[in-house]
Amino acid sequence: MIAQERLAEAAGYTTARRVAAYRGGYLPEERRALERALHSGQLLGLAATSALELGVDVAGLDAVLLAGYPGTRASLWQQAGRAGRSGQGALAVLIARDDPLDTYLVHHPDSLFRQPVESTVLDPDNPHVLAPHLCAAAAELPLTDSDLELFGPSTAPLLPQLERRGLLRQRPGGYFWTRRERAADAVDIRGGGGDPVRIVEADTGRLLGTVDAGSAHTSVHTGAVHLHQGRTYRVRELDLEDSVALVDEADPPYSTVARDTTSIRVLDTDREVAWGEATLCFGSVEVTNQVVSFLKRRLITGEVLGETKLDLPPRTLRTRAVWWCVTDGQLEDAGLLPEELPGAAHAAEHASIGLLPLFATCDRWDIGGVSVPLHPDTGLPTVFVYDGHPGGAGFAERGFQRAEEWLGATLAAITACECERGCPSCIQSPKCGNGNEPLDKGGAIRLLRLLLAGSTAPGAESM
Ligand SMILES: [Zn+2]
Ligand SMILES: [Zn+2]
Repeated sequence: MIAQERLAEAAGYTTARRVAAYRGGYLPEERRALERALHSGQLLGLAATSALELGVDVAGLDAVLLAGYPGTRASLWQQAGRAGRSGQGALAVLIARDDPLDTYLVHHPDSLFRQPVESTVLDPDNPHVLAPHLCAAAAELPLTDSDLELFGPSTAPLLPQLERRGLLRQRPGGYFWTRRERAADAVDIRGGGGDPVRIVEADTGRLLGTVDAGSAHTSVHTGAVHLHQGRTYRVRELDLEDSVALVDEADPPYSTVARDTTSIRVLDTDREVAWGEATLCFGSVEVTNQVVSFLKRRLITGEVLGETKLDLPPRTLRTRAVWWCVTDGQLEDAGLLPEELPGAAHAAEHASIGLLPLFATCDRWDIGGVSVPLHPDTGLPTVFVYDGHPGGAGFAERGFQRAEEWLGATLAAITACECERGCPSCIQSPKCGNGNEPLDKGGAIRLLRLLLAGSTAPGAESM
């Protein structure tokens, strides 16, 4: 729409009408009409969400502009490949977003151009990962004994559980999918958090949609402003007992951001390596998260208009994490003052979460982090990054395996960012439950340098 407005100013309305928008949720007829208009040249440009990646048959364009790194090299090449006709040159431009991963990539183009398409990281034996796959497979064809081997050793004990949850039913011909809806929609991959919360319009009783239980406290708490399919609603009440959020259509001049507190407990340390005096660990943790309040922020300016307390119960997640600790002696040697440590560790945590998707094919929303100046289980300043999936999905483990590269890239991204005190391109995070406070960019650089000094990462010393 903005492109149309600008074009109308610059070139008149006839030209403005020759660009269009495309996003998920369009009907197949609408998609086909857009494709035809683009092929025939009637449309000169199309602004699209990632839905275009697979949803629309478009190729042979002159140029593709990518607004932000799409998350994987596979998606990047898929999208860039929309440009180009046989025998002719084509243009694909990646425009970096405010994100530490994008910052790193524009300073290190080799990590895009000299690399193979990534291998997918997923712990296939994790029941939370496996269950949706089994359901989707059963929805295609009933699962028989001979299929079980294909899905690995966790399959046999999981099937009776899925039957108890009413998702599959065992019959002589195998396990059948019991629901009417598509399995991919019905089985929440982030699962384990309880029933999805229904979003219901309070006055009409109309069901607008659902949000998964894991994110309901954050997105549809009482008082939240919630966007749903382009409309704005205000949550009148979140009823956890009935798993329903009652909403009214509204047009408030503000958005809301939930604030939460997160603590983490180490249950088991599976692996541990020493990086000089510092240590790097991988193991099982229990994460306790509680949404405690929300901020109202004025639209456009983001100015905070006030904070409202919430009374929501804490939730726990047992998962896998990678964590690193440094010693007080190291901090002293690096000249990092005790009062700088919380901001330094928090900033390093944010940036490392932003960079992990480069090494473990995940979304930054699939992982979380906690930084603690003195953690009761380690007795040291500690930064944790954990899998957001119950039981872990392999992302933290990949972080542990490639820790030198991962944390080295984290340091490089922060160092390369041209801001003075930290910005969304390096250490600020859109999902911070603490309103991005405190953050210390210079401290994070010193902290990561001292950590990496003990590793043998190529290039770590030179940065
Ligand atoms: Zn920055
Ligand atoms: Zn944070």
